[in-house]
Amino acid sequence: MQLNGSCHCGAVRFSVESQHPYPFLLCYCSICRKTAGAGGFAINLSADAGSLVIDGAEHIRNYNARLHDSKTGETSRSAAERKFCGECGSALWVWDPNWPELLHPHASAIDTPLPLPPERTHLMLGSRAPWVEPCVRSTDRTFDGYPEESIAAWHQRLGLEC
Ligand SMILES: [Zn+2]
Ligand SMILES: [Zn+2]
Repeated sequence: MQLNGSCHCGAVRFSVESQHPYPFLLCYCSICRKTAGAGGFAINLSADAGSLVIDGAEHIRNYNARLHDSKTGETSRSAAERKFCGECGSALWVWDPNWPELLHPHASAIDTPLPLPPERTHLMLGSRAPWVEPCVRSTDRTFDGYPEESIAAWHQRLGLEC
């Protein structure tokens, strides 16, 4: 299905094709929480990067997340590019050069009505803030780190590819 998205101020609009548009993946890591998930987590979708069409690209800014290794004290930069609107700050999508064919729009940036997921995956719960109480339903799956199952594999298992 085609996903249409925008930032809050409207300076950036975009569209992208997705076979895997269910907003089932809730990430509680500190990057998602700080940059795109004020409620404690962000929801990332998966789409076809080659189909991305942008209106207002000149307003887009980029953040390669600053990573801190608590053991060595060293800092580095994530390769993943987190795109946001430079005018209003809305988080738009994540693109990782390790998987260049994939684009991960934040569900919050999408205006197209998304389908309701029958079950959800909560990941990076080991990094959640202490005040965040995950709302886990009986059908949900939970992970302290990353799950093995990809976004595409989740859709295939449940027969929900669009
Ligand atoms: Zn904006
Ligand atoms: Zn995250």
